[in-house]
Amino acid sequence: MSEKSAPGALKLDTPVQFVKGVGPKLGDVLKKKGVETVQDLLEWYPRAYEDRRAARTISSLKPDELVSLRAKVIRVSSFNMGASKRKIYDVTISDGTGKIHCKFFRVPYKGFFERFKPNQDVRVIGKVQAYRGQLEFNHPDIQDETGDEAQASADEMIPVYPESEGLTNRSIRKLMEVALDAVALQESASPPPATNRYGATASSASAGPRMAGGGRLPTAVRGKTRAASEPPPPAKLEKLPEWLRTKYELPSRLEALEHVHRPPEGAGADYIEQTSPYHRRIIFEEFFWLELYLASKKSGLQREKAPAFEPRLTLLERLRKSLPFQLTGAQERSLNEIVKDLAKPHPMHRLVQGDVGSGKTLVALAASLVAKENAFQTAIMVPTEILAEQHYQNAIRYLEPLGLTIGLLTGSMKSSERNQTYEMLRTGVIDVIVGTHALIQEAVEFKNLGLVVIDEQHRFGVHQRSELKKKGLSPHFLVMTATPIPRTLAMTVYGDLDVSVIDELPPGRSPIVTRVTYESKREQVMGFLKDQLVKGRQAYVVYPLVEESEKIDLRDAVSAFNELEVLFPDYKVALLHGKMKPDEKDEVMRKFRAKDFDILVSTTVIEVGVDVPNANIMIIEHAERFGLSQLHQLRGRVGRGEHKSYCVLMLGKAVSDESRERAQIMEQTSDGFKIAEADLAIRGPGEFLGARQSGLTGFKMANLVRDVKILQESREAAFEVLEKDPDLTAIENRPLRDELVRAHGPASLASVG
Ligand code: ADP
Ligand code: MG
Repeated sequence: MSEKSAPGALKLDTPVQFVKGVGPKLGDVLKKKGVETVQDLLEWYPRAYEDRRAARTISSLKPDELVSLRAKVIRVSSFNMGASKRKIYDVTISDGTGKIHCKFFRVPYKGFFERFKPNQDVRVIGKVQAYRGQLEFNHPDIQDETGDEAQASADEMIPVYPESEGLTNRSIRKLMEVALDAVALQESASPPPATNRYGATASSASAGPRMAGGGRLPTAVRGKTRAASEPPPPAKLEKLPEWLRTKYELPSRLEALEHVHRPPEGAGADYIEQTSPYHRRIIFEEFFWLELYLASKKSGLQREKAPAFEPRLTLLERLRKSLPFQLTGAQERSLNEIVKDLAKPHPMHRLVQGDVGSGKTLVALAASLVAKENAFQTAIMVPTEILAEQHYQNAIRYLEPLGLTIGLLTGSMKSSERNQTYEMLRTGVIDVIVGTHALIQEAVEFKNLGLVVIDEQHRFGVHQRSELKKKGLSPHFLVMTATPIPRTLAMTVYGDLDVSVIDELPPGRSPIVTRVTYESKREQVMGFLKDQLVKGRQAYVVYPLVEESEKIDLRDAVSAFNELEVLFPDYKVALLHGKMKPDEKDEVMRKFRAKDFDILVSTTVIEVGVDVPNANIMIIEHAERFGLSQLHQLRGRVGRGEHKSYCVLMLGKAVSDESRERAQIMEQTSDGFKIAEADLAIRGPGEFLGARQSGLTGFKMANLVRDVKILQESREAAFEVLEKDPDLTAIENRPLRDELVRAHGPASLASVG
């Protein structure tokens, strides 16, 4: 390819093979990293920076510091770790002031360790860790320094990219140079758009203060408005409108990329911390697209017409009087928010977050009374049949006395029963129907569906609403989850929903006693379990499920099952695992609830929300392998009855200090929100995103823990944009509209324009 050497020919969507220095082989390596185009390359951000002016000595290191230093390799070795037979690799380095181990728990890439020979000069960048009183690095970045003196003296702040086989940091930096130069040239070569009153050229990194480089408006907005059917134009570098960048003090995208990939002379610690204005710009944009999407969903909702409800509250009042207890303040507050929503002209779209046992069911049932009084039906959807039955029983208990007719719809019902229920729904005899979420997918016809409640929302997607919409229905929507989500994360995960929080448990619950313990104490734990069984209680024994090694986990659980049968011959033990069919699982749970079993050994997260009040002890094996929020969820299965309840966290062998400390958080608090915050800080957001993950992650630079403030700003910006220009038709906002359609399809703006 002759154009290959002409940097000006590179466009954002040019395949990366056409970048000078990339052949088919390197192209393949990059492709494996998800880098296919010039744009992908530019968005392959440094994962750290090395400040060559601040190189450290080994003797000066302190725990938790992120540092870089120069040293010599002493040796490269590997050994097996304890009984787990995990292989650990070690590169020992020394700089004359001391030595330190660089530990690797897996091989970063083929040939990685072969690169290092005794006496070789290396740069090491990483976080200092303390392990059993000694300092070490875990998976640091190690770079060959031989013959890099010239480079070292020229640059002060070096971006560090993840190296891989056949791709060194140095070669990545060279590719970035080529790509940046080409893109900068393109940007300055584009004819100025007629509407750009700034007429600024987006120029180089040295353009001075933050706002100096004027981004230009993309081709899309030049001249006449495009027809809606016309495909969006090819991606341009700058997509944020000038006014937005001015308001939020964002440098141009080109400037940001330039700085991030080629830190200028004098670049400071804000690069290392990824808090420079240029990092902020990129992070802001990553959040902004997500928030704009969520905001557009929300604004679309506000234009839908809801079933007309009036605040008729007689039945609700009668419910309050009929209850053997008072609703908690938090329940009342949530209910109030729901009642207000129901009276609005557009559909409610509300999430109720409440810890396990906080009484969400009752709030949902109470809402269905308002529906009934307005002559509307309510559908309550749950993830499993057993939960459906449980809610059905509750609905009968609380609602039937008030004159409502309750229905149940599950997959295991006989077809004659089903048909009868269908008929009763169609004719409006049933006021509240409880079922698995097949409820709305099937050909179920409602007479007058006004409210949909989805329980344990995190277990499945949020497509139910759009499915209903396809059927021409636009009911009020209430989703409930027992997985507390940190507030900041809720903005991204549930950003299109209004949120009510039930942060108070009904009075009189005695807290669950939680203890962290070890293999060596197994006998005592079993003795304690025996005591509880003798008293007539039931127990859960839970094993972690790690997908890649499902077989091993199952084997662990099966052997535990066998051992427990031998250990407790007078008691019945059951096994529940992920390979079982849903109805088999339901059957086991049902029998456990009926006390046909005394001990339930499970590899799978025990079905959410299932109430077995007589089960008061839970033993969690390999507790270190669970996230804190998961542990919290599991623990919530006990403490549901009158008996004092216990949760025993068994740690595996050779767990780190960190894992132990983490597990101890569970001993200290039973507040799901506190636990969620801790979990987010430790494990990142993956844990919470669950079914909603698709499209919500994929941040390349942004970090939901570190960048909360930027997230808030970008959310504010997104909502402001749509408030001022709901259809995104203003010429300066067209690039936003184009991007939304490009990323989420025309449907994302179905109600817009
Ligand atoms: P979750 O929020 O986990 O779904 P549930 O709705 O299953 O919790 O409620 C847990 C238990 O607490 C149920 O047995 C329910 O009857 C009871 N409950 C709910 N609200 C109150 C209250 N205000 N006072 C006392 N008990 C309550
Ligand atoms: Mg529940």
